[in-house]
Amino acid sequence: MKINLKSLTLKELEEFIFSLGEKKFKALQIFKWIFQKGISNFDEMTDLSKNLRESLKEKAYISELKLLNSITSKNQDTVKYSFLLEDQECIESVLMRYEEDLGIGRVSVCLSTQAGCARGCYFCASGKNGLARNLKFYEIADQVLKIQNLIKENEERAANLVFMGIGEPLDNYFEVIKVVKLLNEPNSLNIGSRHIAISTCGIPEKIIALARESIPVRLAISLHSADSEKRSFLMPVNKKYPLEKVLQACREYQQICKRRITFEYALIKDFNDAKEDADSLFKILRGIKSLINIIPFNPILDCKFKPSPLIKVKWFRDYLKNKGISATVRKSRGLDIDAACGQLRLKNVSQ
Ligand code: SF4
Repeated sequence: MKINLKSLTLKELEEFIFSLGEKKFKALQIFKWIFQKGISNFDEMTDLSKNLRESLKEKAYISELKLLNSITSKNQDTVKYSFLLEDQECIESVLMRYEEDLGIGRVSVCLSTQAGCARGCYFCASGKNGLARNLKFYEIADQVLKIQNLIKENEERAANLVFMGIGEPLDNYFEVIKVVKLLNEPNSLNIGSRHIAISTCGIPEKIIALARESIPVRLAISLHSADSEKRSFLMPVNKKYPLEKVLQACREYQQICKRRITFEYALIKDFNDAKEDADSLFKILRGIKSLINIIPFNPILDCKFKPSPLIKVKWFRDYLKNKGISATVRKSRGLDIDAACGQLRLKNVSQ
């Protein structure tokens, strides 16, 4: 059976190349072709000898996600890509152009980490069909590699990664950490850890584990309400891991790694946008170095909620700021192509 070179670490690749009777250093050349240049065809690896290329073709292959389609938003700042996995599941990834934050030509990519999601948040389309499976680290990496290859002709570069697409990243912890380390590698895309953010619905033991990792990525928690009953309605995970436990884990996280935590707060009309909601937020986050990222709510099908009006969004932000909490409003992107937060969906094309 042929071996998938994309599934190997550099060390494993060295062992494989050595087993072919070649010098180990050739593994690094191949690794760079795969993870730096996004090449999957051995014939394009021009610095390898013909003999080695032939032997690789015989014994190995390099898996690739298949691009099914891409849709660009009207204002061109967002592109949603649908990719087919080997088992016919279809995942989505999103490219976002934030020139003001990242600089011209530097783009942000939102990645899926699971095919579906088991957490079933009320406002999110990604979990509506449950979890199909976890993605392998190389399937997560491939979303960036594919997008990088598509945008390089515009002289654009994937410079920022957000693990906020389909799936709960911390439910696929091992593969997510593996891909973060891989993409941070100077021999792959070399994306700095400050430019990598992991967003979670709040899994206490994994939040603490993340603080101890050698890669200091940014952490975001989907909060959406400071009231336990309201949060449990929006996010059933709150019944298993109540808010107090998540906040305790956030405190431990900061004791260990001292990094600020972003709290995502989707503002929903007449549900979590009142003065009392802002006051409760202020109260529960006391003692945690935090940034509240207010997201204008993105409606999905069958959801009874509506977004708060813009004037209320700004009022909420300013009210928090006046109380001394850092708060920003995230600009909604890709609404017209169902690529905004919570709108990505898993499909199985064989069904
Ligand atoms: S918001 Fe995140 S955790 Fe919740 S269902 Fe969607 S993908 Fe899963």
